[in-house]
Amino acid sequence: MALTINPNLCPQNHRCPIIKVCPMEAISQEGKGLPVIDDSKCAECMDCVSSCPMQAVQQNLKSFLHTVTN
Ligand code: SF4
Repeated sequence: MALTINPNLCPQNHRCPIIKVCPMEAISQEGKGLPVIDDSKCAECMDCVSSCPMQAVQQNLKSFLHTVTN
């Protein structure tokens, strides 16, 4: 299951606090922009999901549908 950060929920006006939560260093951020989760590094531990105060980390439905239909 791939995860993504919903730009409609993330205010993108601060240094993302979940970057330091990720044990795989899979989350990166340019300045105060939208953080990005690297699927190739993510271990799907879900620590970031429970740590985001905006509940902005969500399942990447586009990736999920690609997996299911192929
Ligand atoms: S699920 Fe875990 S490994 Fe994946 S991005 Fe979130 S904190 Fe990192």
